[in-house]
Amino acid sequence: MLLTKKNSGTSGASASPFVHSLRRGLTQALPTLDRRTFLRRSGLGVGVGLAASQLSLVKKAQAGTQGGSIIGAGKVEVKRTVCTHCSVGCAVDAVVENGVWVRQEPVFDSPINLGAHCAKGAALREHGHGEYRLRYPMKLVNGKYERISWDLALKEISERMMELRKASGPDSVYFIGSSKHNNEQAYLMRKFVSFWGTNNTDHQARICHSTTVAGVANTWGYGAMTNSYNDMQNSKCALYIGSNAAEAHPVSMLHMLHAKENGCKMIVVDPRFTRTAAKADEYVRIRSGTDIPFLFGIVYHIFKNGWEDKKYINDRVYGMEAVKADIMAKWTPDKVEEACGVKEEQVFKVAKMLHENNPSTIVWCMGQTQHTIGNAMVRASCILQLALGNIGKSGGGTNIFRGHDNVQGATDVGPNPDSLPGYYGLAEGSWKHFAKAWDVDFEWIKGRYASPAMMGKNGITVSRWIDGVLEKNELIDQDSNLRGVFYWGHAPNSQTRGLEMKRAMDKLDLLVVVDPYPSATAAMAAMPGKPEDLNPNRAVYLLPAATQFETSGSCTASNRSLQWRDKVIDPLWESRSDHMIMYQLADKLGFGKELVKNYKMQKVKGMDEPVPEDILREINKCVWTIGYTGQSPERLKAHMRNMHLFDVKTLKSKGGKDKETGYDFGDDYFGLPWPCYGTPELKHPGSPNLYDTSKHVMEGGGNFRANFGVEREGKSLLAEDGSHSKGADITTGYPELDHVLLKKLGWWGELTEAEAKAAEGKNWKTDSSGGMIRVFMKNHGCHPFGNAKARAVVWNFPDPIPQHREPLYGTRADMMAKYPTHDDKKAFWRLPTLYKTIQDKNIADKVHEKFPLIMTSGRLVEYEGGGEETRSNPWLAELQQEMFVEINPQTASKRGIRNGERAWVKTPTGARLNVQALVTERVAPDTVFLPFHFSGRWQGADMLAHYPNGAAPIVRGEAVNTATTYGYDSVTMMQETKTTVCDVEKA
Ligand code: SF4
Repeated sequence: MLLTKKNSGTSGASASPFVHSLRRGLTQALPTLDRRTFLRRSGLGVGVGLAASQLSLVKKAQAGTQGGSIIGAGKVEVKRTVCTHCSVGCAVDAVVENGVWVRQEPVFDSPINLGAHCAKGAALREHGHGEYRLRYPMKLVNGKYERISWDLALKEISERMMELRKASGPDSVYFIGSSKHNNEQAYLMRKFVSFWGTNNTDHQARICHSTTVAGVANTWGYGAMTNSYNDMQNSKCALYIGSNAAEAHPVSMLHMLHAKENGCKMIVVDPRFTRTAAKADEYVRIRSGTDIPFLFGIVYHIFKNGWEDKKYINDRVYGMEAVKADIMAKWTPDKVEEACGVKEEQVFKVAKMLHENNPSTIVWCMGQTQHTIGNAMVRASCILQLALGNIGKSGGGTNIFRGHDNVQGATDVGPNPDSLPGYYGLAEGSWKHFAKAWDVDFEWIKGRYASPAMMGKNGITVSRWIDGVLEKNELIDQDSNLRGVFYWGHAPNSQTRGLEMKRAMDKLDLLVVVDPYPSATAAMAAMPGKPEDLNPNRAVYLLPAATQFETSGSCTASNRSLQWRDKVIDPLWESRSDHMIMYQLADKLGFGKELVKNYKMQKVKGMDEPVPEDILREINKCVWTIGYTGQSPERLKAHMRNMHLFDVKTLKSKGGKDKETGYDFGDDYFGLPWPCYGTPELKHPGSPNLYDTSKHVMEGGGNFRANFGVEREGKSLLAEDGSHSKGADITTGYPELDHVLLKKLGWWGELTEAEAKAAEGKNWKTDSSGGMIRVFMKNHGCHPFGNAKARAVVWNFPDPIPQHREPLYGTRADMMAKYPTHDDKKAFWRLPTLYKTIQDKNIADKVHEKFPLIMTSGRLVEYEGGGEETRSNPWLAELQQEMFVEINPQTASKRGIRNGERAWVKTPTGARLNVQALVTERVAPDTVFLPFHFSGRWQGADMLAHYPNGAAPIVRGEAVNTATTYGYDSVTMMQETKTTVCDVEKA
């Protein structure tokens, strides 16, 4: 979806604004640059010239740090890695000559991408060798970034941290981690933060799929995609709602299009006619934020026509009767049409398509998750699939596409404010489990926290760190406001309320950006704000992190498969790997030895770095809950070497052995998708489709988790007799496994002596031997997390049965009156959170009259996340050069705006965005769409001068989130980005 044609490279007054934009970006590093030079320098040439131009670019980079020539007869190696731009997990072979990455190929044997890449994947080499990277540590001095040494940077940062700790306690510092870290780094980050003594940490998952994780986990056990991109080839019908996969997860469409060739029907539900919608058999336009009325409108027809799977519901679902009664009363076709704008015929047609084409799957992404009622929306999707009996089936499931390449893994084992790795809660038992795994004294960790109470309290979420700074101290649930913030691999422009974020950044005492690129944080921090907001003692540092191509480690694709990345090149310039930086900083802070106690160290650029394999082995030894225990580095590496041995539709091994190690793949599934239970020696094959009772648990089968007790209001929560996984010795529902249950069953004696010793008094999640899991699964075919019913009613959520509620900022005052939001909350994730106060005020102030358009946002195929990395990539920058607003012809015409003209987008925050108008019927007259990958312009002004010299992205544009409004999910603090209001006027 090119907004504009590629520029001709001509100079002069007739050049388009996009050409100017591109040229502005390029000229910061290169004084003058015509198109020819641009192509040559950026590697966009073809054929023989390509490798030569790339080499010259790389030579310059290497010479800066190594001082030697790199071209000549030398070793050519192929390193296997994985694309870092989205959760599909496309494999890449990087060709490295004399330590220089010279070429790349997609991996044709990969069962995930089958040799396909999207534009971002095809441009990866440039990401590793990018010209616009942060090259050395920098410090903000009088509004400009100046180079400093690593030693000085680490010394000053650690000293400032210790000052803050002494004056305001460990909770005064906030650590924003990263979904771009590999599993080992994300896990080490949680450990680092724990040793610092706070739960004030979070990462991108909060603002992409936290509502999914909470909603789905609370429905049936695990908060993850149940099936896989590949398994969609087995679907008969696919319902996409709030997912523009063709742009956000392009290679996933490979599997969908194969499915379509075999007759699979495709339905796309979205306020906007997307590229994905263009492939659909049925496109449904809904009013933004009305997923529940639409989904329950479908469920209404399913129940009305008796299309539900009655036996499945009886045996495996709790609370469906209550849900059915609620839906039949509230979501009659007239109410559905009134709420979401879809006529009964079309809702019925979709319900019939799902009924007649079984199994069907559902796909959702941020279109569904990023709402104040995101937790309820995702549960409505789950209820639809449970009603149809589609969960636990190949071709069915909830295919929830995650965003960043390792957002799944970082959520599973990384820096979450409410859990330790593997979703272990913050209770004392969990801390003791990890203290043992980390080989440190529990009392020592406890002493690092402000108090035992703070150790067990959820931290502030990344979506609200700005309120941790700005909120009145007496209203926050910790001693001090936030005074220091680390942006460790995270884009600020992916978060809402940009104007307030700028204020919060200015008020800090310490701001540290750790990133391969300076990121929009650097420019925002350096840009002058209101003088009264600026803390005169503020210190801002930029630390250059290495990319994932300059280290090794595992990452988890959206389908839960783990893949191991080889290191392609050594860290360029002065960059260092994230885990090296964590270790070095921990050392300065006094807990370096504790952090790396269980790891061997290796030398990189002459410095000590923890060995990633050892970190994964530590994960293998303690993350039992979600089965991150079976994926040893050795097994993962064998999988990466033998991708050709795995079936594309099932991901199952076709048999065979690894030539290098003799490892027998047996029945393994590619990447050992978690849960891969027990020790690596147990050889659990991974779980391709969760909760699948048609398979034995040792063949990847399962059932719903017993995680919510065994009884509720006199009704059993356990699964009915006969609904067990294939071959289980217990043929009825059962609770989760612990030492008492194993003894009662008479199976305790099957543990070895050492296992029995370790398992005494434990449950399957804390038994460090893995013996209980072995006996239960291998000897008896039973599932360690028990066998229970999924919950259609989640009684511990604000709306146990999902209810539609209008957003805080809406264009329909009538609907806000009928479907009001929640009451305000106090001390929710340590902060007060407003709902009704804001919505009521907006209605009273008639905000919808001043801002009559629904503003929604989303992705583009060319860019990723906050976009600084991809907009710094000349290959991609060439493709999409301008930030824009999609506006319907009718709406544009009323405002005198023509296609290609400049426009101001204004929101109730007071922010104004100067963007290009893309006049299109993709959006309805009441809606406008803006992509969210841009930054580098601020309310009409270029921020170029505020980036470090030579490190600004090539393409800069207004960040949509400069203008987005307040609003957070009532369970997870997910931000509302998909439904707010604005107006547009001609610039
Ligand atoms: Fe594959 Fe996603 Fe990378 Fe594109 S961005 S190549 S779809 S992993």
